[in-house]
Amino acid sequence: MSSLLEIKDLHVAYGKVEAVRGVNLVMEPGQIVTVIGPNGAGKTTLLAAAAGLLRSRGSMAYDGVDLQNLDVEERVKRGFCLVPEKRELFGDMPVADNLILGAYAHRRNGTEVKRSLNDVYARFPRLAERRTQKANTLSGGERQMLALGRALMSRPRLLLLDEPSLGLAPLIVREIFRIVASLRETGVSILLVEQNARAALETADYGYVLETGEVSHQGPADELAHDPRVISTYLGGQN
Ligand code: ATP
Repeated sequence: MSSLLEIKDLHVAYGKVEAVRGVNLVMEPGQIVTVIGPNGAGKTTLLAAAAGLLRSRGSMAYDGVDLQNLDVEERVKRGFCLVPEKRELFGDMPVADNLILGAYAHRRNGTEVKRSLNDVYARFPRLAERRTQKANTLSGGERQMLALGRALMSRPRLLLLDEPSLGLAPLIVREIFRIVASLRETGVSILLVEQNARAALETADYGYVLETGEVSHQGPADELAHDPRVISTYLGGQN
């Protein structure tokens, strides 16, 4: 069986500055893989290149197909879905409409969209309670839930999550990661970019540490969480 995502020798540059340099990354179906690392390491750049939003050099295959041959709409149709760091919600629209727009790429029939909507509301009761509320009046945690819920409306196979814990209080972070872990049980694979290394490594199966655009360490998430170099740099020395 081929890997779900296979990135080989990826390079991404902004002008003359290379932000991602020679990255190799593999994901198997059903895995949560995390990319951790400090500010400016190139994590967002890596995700944006994988999602087809930035030009890159190297090779990327999704389910055995060369990603460079699939435009953004084709990627979404094949279940490849990015949840960007800035969430990109429609602030003036109610929660329900934001969710329904998530199903747009598939142009599925009304009954199916309704079923997906009910699934999302079952997973995120807070969104169900707030279905008529405008997105720009939600709390940070609720907005993150809405971004995740909207992504799920597209029935993804691979979710690319950029810093889902950004700016959230610790209790909400725990809730978001619980939800992320529960998605794996539904068969969704997740590429999780995070600065919150501890929470990311607790949730993921495998991890990569990115430093100045290059992979400095990688391994099963529980091994990385016990690696003294990772602990001293990213986990604050307490374990
Ligand atoms: P953070 O955790 O702070 O979001 P990151 O690991 O996601 O950081 P990137 O946002 O990918 O890092 O940035 C990697 C490098 O590329 C940084 O040095 C950044 O300044 C640079 N960079 C990012 N976007 C651009 C851009 N549009 N133009 C020029 N340089 C950029």
